[in-house]
Amino acid sequence: MALKKLVAGNWKMNGLSADLAEVKAIADAARGYPRVDVALCVPAVLIERAARAAPGFAIGAQDVHEATSGAHTGCVSAAMLLDAGASLTIVGHSERREAQRESDAEVRAKAEAALVAGLKVILCVGEALDVREAGNAVETVQAQLDASLPHGPGAAAHIPDDLAIAYEPIWAIGTGRIPTIDAIAEMHAALRLRLAAAYGDAGGRVPILYGGSVKASNAAEIFSVPNVDGALVGGASLKAADFMPIVAAAASAT
Ligand code: PEP
Repeated sequence: MALKKLVAGNWKMNGLSADLAEVKAIADAARGYPRVDVALCVPAVLIERAARAAPGFAIGAQDVHEATSGAHTGCVSAAMLLDAGASLTIVGHSERREAQRESDAEVRAKAEAALVAGLKVILCVGEALDVREAGNAVETVQAQLDASLPHGPGAAAHIPDDLAIAYEPIWAIGTGRIPTIDAIAEMHAALRLRLAAAYGDAGGRVPILYGGSVKASNAAEIFSVPNVDGALVGGASLKAADFMPIVAAAASAT
């Protein structure tokens, strides 16, 4: 049975008070698509105001620290995110894996901490262009997933309901380029196998999102691919006018 589609926006380091009107516009429009889960992951400082502007709508963070509290200057814990009104968080985005040198082990620890605290998690994986061109994308991303997936008794109880994977080829993020439809299908099928190996039957029900230059003009084709259960959307999530056609495409594909 097809999973309910999830379309999540990643605002990255974009969004000021003036943009709360856009959060509200997206939340209001999302009510028209009850068969799609829609969320916006906004900068940490905007979470509380976004949650107040859009009651009942899923507001997420873009990162979380693995510790519950303590001497971690500048970091934010899962409890703090929940307290501010977030219901989910991204972990392991390639921009953080690269710029902050986050390892698979750290990403796993963050995912586990978030799940245990009660946040849903979108865990990102994806290959660099040289890996794709060398023909090693599938093995590389499978290994990255294996090493990043949350385990342990506290996290296991939250799978599949609170975990989603986002396959985001690094070279497709913000570039306007996407893999071929066959390449997306191959990767999502390969990740589905690894999820089943990790979690058994529950692994078949963990949504696998595609991310990287998703827009209104390519969303329907991407959502038609087997094992593509939604999208993580960057640039095209900043405006309701760009984002809602992607949500509509997900609704049509459901
Ligand atoms: C992202 O940052 O997760 C992303 C997919 O960005 P974009 O849609 O802009 O490629």
